[in-house]
Formats: sequence, structure tokens, C-alpha cells
Amino acid sequence: MRSAAAFCVLLGALALQAQPAAPHLIAPGVWFLLGDGLKGYSNTTVIEMQDYLIVVDANYPARARELIAIVKQLSPKPVRYVFDTHAHGDHSYGNSLWTAAGATTLAYAGILAEMDRYEPARWQAAEAKREDVRSLHQNNVERPLKTFTKSPYVLEDATRKVEFLYLGWGHTQADGYVWLPRERLLCTGDGAVNGPRNKLWDANLTNWPRVLAKAMRLQPRFVLPGHGEAGGVEILNGQRRFLLDLYGAVNAQVQAGKPLGEITVHLPARDRSWVPKDLAWDIEATYMEITDHQPAGAIPHAWK
Ligand SMILES: [Zn+2]
Repeated sequence: MRSAAAFCVLLGALALQAQPAAPHLIAPGVWFLLGDGLKGYSNTTVIEMQDYLIVVDANYPARARELIAIVKQLSPKPVRYVFDTHAHGDHSYGNSLWTAAGATTLAYAGILAEMDRYEPARWQAAEAKREDVRSLHQNNVERPLKTFTKSPYVLEDATRKVEFLYLGWGHTQADGYVWLPRERLLCTGDGAVNGPRNKLWDANLTNWPRVLAKAMRLQPRFVLPGHGEAGGVEILNGQRRFLLDLYGAVNAQVQAGKPLGEITVHLPARDRSWVPKDLAWDIEATYMEITDHQPAGAIPHAWK
């Protein structure tokens, strides 16, 4: 009996785990939806305007299909814009599903050059691994239908003001942020994540902390990251400290003449939430940026 009861508890726990997190109402008309990290999904924010909705990040196709259904439960208003915070597949590969559903995909203009630089190689690599990407029968990511070059790009009506920002080359060359000035709410994409979930290979590791300092000067009350739980400005600060500490630690050893293979990094406890199990790729990207005297993302590199 005891083992049967324990089995039921286990089943219950598994069922709970399998349930996607419910949308979290952050402010009136602003929902945050946590993406399932095991499926590679990014987070999503839904912003209600007077007559329509804005979705932040198109996500992977399977998640985009889920979101299209979930969003209908949140509000009867149509999704007019879907903002890609950057070119990575977990944020943009669902674009064509949203446009087929009637939305206009939107991004900072630099995303087009990012996609031209890395695609369709990354799309093809994702097709080899992901059924949801294969299921679209496309040979490339659908580019955002609308882009802006002047930051901020503003959408405003009687109920809300939304600013789409470009703050410089950080996580990628074309990171877009979404800022709601009245609510003091910032969607960061992967410019800041809450946890050890970032990829540094397309980054400018010298400039990224400056970009985050700019974001911190907005003094956000709510920070909605591309991955991990929502929080406040501590997410921006934590991501920034991790990058500074990583760069400082690698740079000290480069200056001491150590080759890449001999560099070991022990970061302070404050960085714990951002340190991946295997730091080797982060160390390599930082090493390359320092020794090549150009942003890691500017050096030809394979997707890791
Ligand atoms: Zn991501």
C-alpha cells in the first residue's frame, strides 16, 4: 500500500511538472508566460492595448502554436504585433505561424543582417533536431515583416505606451528590448536571462555590460527575461556582474600569457545563478574576443 501511495504521489508530481506554467499577470493587461526550458522554449510576454495585443517573442513553432491558443483565452483582442527580441530560433522560428494567424512580426532592423549572416545554416541544424521546425516545411526562417531603425519605436494608444528599444550590441548585434514606461516594465529577450541559459557566441562581451547599464538606468520595476523567472532589476545587475566577472577572470589569465587550454575560471558566489555547468564555451568566446580584439560575434564561428 505504501509503495502504491508513493507511486501516486510520484505520478501527481510528474503531472504537476508536465503542466505548463499558468500565465502570470504582472500588471493589468500584461501577462508573462514561462517557456519550458526542456523543450528549448523562451519566455513570452503578452501586452494588451486598447484594440489589440502585442506578443513578445515568436518562440519555436510548437510553442507558437500553443501560444496562439493560450492568448485567445487571455483576451478576445487580435494579436497585431509579434516582436522578435533577436534572431535566435527559440525567439523567431515561429514567425510564419504568427503571420499566418494575421499578426505582423516586428523587430529592430539589424535582425535582418543577423538572419542573413547565420541562416539558413542554423535553421537546417534545427530541422535536424526539432520536429516542430521540420513541420513547417520551410527552408529558412521567415524574416520579420516590419522593422524599425530609430530607437525607440513607439506604439501608443489611450491605454498604454510601448517603446521598442535598441540599446547596442550585447547578446547579439540586434537585441530589441520592450519598455512600458508607465508600468516601468522591461522585456529583455536574452539581453538578460534569469539563470545559466545564455549563449555568448554572437555577443559583444565588452559592450554587453554597458547595454545592461543603460537598461538599468531605466529603473525598471519589473524585468521579464528571455529565459527564467520574472523579477526586478537584480536580473539585469546579475547578468551584468556575471559578464564583467567572466571577462575580468579570463582577461587576467590572457594578460599573464596563458593559452586557452590552461585557463580556468572560478567566479564569485554572486554569479552562481548565471554560471552554466560547463563554462568552457563562455571562456572560449571571451578568450576569442580578447585575443582577436573584436567582438566574439564578429569572429566567424559555428553555432554551439
Ligand atoms: Zn533564448
